[in-house]
Amino acid sequence: MIYAGSAASPPQFPKDGLPEVAFLGRSNVGKSCLLNALVGQKGLARVSSTPGRTRVVNFFRVANALYLADLPGYGYARVPEPMRRSWERLAVSYLVGRAPLVACVFLVDARHEPSDGDLTLRAFLDHHRLPYLVAATKADKLGRGELTRRAAALRAGLAAGAMGVFPVSAVTGAGIPELWRALREAVNRSLEVKHGA
Ligand code: GDP
Repeated sequence: MIYAGSAASPPQFPKDGLPEVAFLGRSNVGKSCLLNALVGQKGLARVSSTPGRTRVVNFFRVANALYLADLPGYGYARVPEPMRRSWERLAVSYLVGRAPLVACVFLVDARHEPSDGDLTLRAFLDHHRLPYLVAATKADKLGRGELTRRAAALRAGLAAGAMGVFPVSAVTGAGIPELWRALREAVNRSLEVKHGA
């Protein structure tokens, strides 16, 4: 995976047309760690020390085949209102009408009930008919039974409209191959549609 740049506004988004997968979730949900686990490179997607600080979309190119687009986390309690609005502007400017975007990965903490921000994001994804799958992060913090229960609750609730629910752990690597497979399938489907296969 290669860091391919940060974009603060649409003119800076990639222009080469490679498929893109967007990563979305509230601050501290484990997005940087999951990105690093997905590509097996520690420290590349910087583990955020100041949640809610960056308002850019970071693009990581994987094997000249796709971009992982890391959107800023939302819902950090101490973020003042103007910054919240600027998050929304940037996220909306990226997510709405972005032709190369083939899927979103919506991250939620496996242990917690959805936040207000999560519900807002879900409504937004549904409204714009953006395909998404849900990654339930920090799965290592739950026992097997509890994790099964939480995943079922997600499938019946927040993730009812999602392509799937994937419990993942950046610590143990659990669920990472399954998430990769789902992302590859989403990319392949989009290429088939594009080439009329
Ligand atoms: P981000 O703000 O969404 O990018 O979240 P980070 O990736 O920076 O992670 C936030 C915190 O959660 C850090 O303290 C991580 O060490 C921790 N964390 C992230 N992923 C996992 C995981 O899979 N398991 C556990 N136990 N902790 C995690």
